Amino acid sequence: MRTAFTRKLLAWWARAARDLPWRKTRDPYRVLVSEFMLQQTQVSRVAEYYPRFLERFPDLETLARARPRAVREAWDGLGYYARASNLHALARVVSRDHDGTLPDEPEELIKLPGVGRYTAGAVATFAYEKPVPAVDTNVSRVLRRVFWRSNHAPRTTHRVLWNLAAALVPKSGKSAWKFNQAVMELGALICVARKPRCPECPVRPVCRTGKSRRTDAAGENRSSKNR
Ligand code: SF4
Repeated sequence: MRTAFTRKLLAWWARAARDLPWRKTRDPYRVLVSEFMLQQTQVSRVAEYYPRFLERFPDLETLARARPRAVREAWDGLGYYARASNLHALARVVSRDHDGTLPDEPEELIKLPGVGRYTAGAVATFAYEKPVPAVDTNVSRVLRRVFWRSNHAPRTTHRVLWNLAAALVPKSGKSAWKFNQAVMELGALICVARKPRCPECPVRPVCRTGKSRRTDAAGENRSSKNR
């Protein structure tokens, strides 16, 4: 089931992935900026602000040298300003302690300001193509629904989901990058929070929730005919 899930997911990704600017780069700084912006903000809004921010602060050293006020101005309109000050603090720490180079291992990334477990995994895999998991809300929802019937596993723990994600991520770097992007994309476009679009979902044949929804629907049809 795991292999079939990955195969179907990657085939769908190849034909359906959105063309987003942060997917065209492996520059760690640019990936990092996108991940900070995407925390709590919609993709369409980030797509608007991302190039402007990078024009003003094209690399980590420029950001590290900037005045806090300038960083805040460039972030203006995106909200959640704590992200901007964390990003700024992170740039200064990396400039001072890591010769301006972002670490490539999640265990090191997570020590930096504003970096949680998800962001550490995301930067490691999206910038450095490390075969590590990155479980955000979208990924968590997809995995829960595919591998458990969602209403039967309301308390699946973070630990279980992270372990599952770690086991699913392909070991080759490029495939790991694609896999992590693809699960997030499926959660953003198809397996959405309120009304998952199961009939058009590429992984439905291997999804416990998707299959049960089809069965439930058939059951409903049968009972309504019987009435
Ligand atoms: S079949 Fe439905 S529940 Fe399963 S992953 Fe696809 S959209 Fe989500």
